Amino acid sequence: MLIVCAEQARVEAELVGGRLGCPSCREVLGPWGHGRERVLRCSSGGRVLRPRRARCRGCAGTHVLLPDLALSRRRDEVLVIGAAIEAKVAGRRCRSIAGRLGVHADTVRGWLRRFAKRAEQIRAHFTRWAVALDREIGALGPAGGGIADALEAIAIAARAWVLRFGPGDPWRIGSALSGGVLLGNTSSLFPPVR
Ligand SMILES: [Zn+2]
Repeated sequence: MLIVCAEQARVEAELVGGRLGCPSCREVLGPWGHGRERVLRCSSGGRVLRPRRARCRGCAGTHVLLPDLALSRRRDEVLVIGAAIEAKVAGRRCRSIAGRLGVHADTVRGWLRRFAKRAEQIRAHFTRWAVALDREIGALGPAGGGIADALEAIAIAARAWVLRFGPGDPWRIGSALSGGVLLGNTSSLFPPVR
């Protein structure tokens, strides 16, 4: 799986133009049909995704090109999931977060549990990205431990990304920098920082 920008025409152009690299071996990816159609639950309603598939010209592995609006194995867009994480760090309770976002409380609980379980991995990964993007960033101080530190690291890395490459939504940048497995289990590896 590879996380790409949500604008299909741009992804298509990059894919056909040989500008997308294989996440496993860095060789060039070429078009290879489409992945399974799915509906992503967005704050503005359902959005049908028909993600592109690509095949590596080096290792022959195939990858689904998931837009940065989404996270692997999650039915809700990353902006909604991110809003839940921010609300939790701000001290809101699960039930109230779920009510405000219009999502089932168990779903929100699942996101927050997974984020908390991975918090240290997330903090370390996004801190490496922040430093890779902006050498001026010194040591990052703790923001209060656990999920607050992890959220802070994502925010700092996203800000560094924006300063370098231009405007973007922090959670979509977070999805891309996590390779889509922000809320994967603790053994799903984040892609290397480049
Ligand atoms: Zn490859």
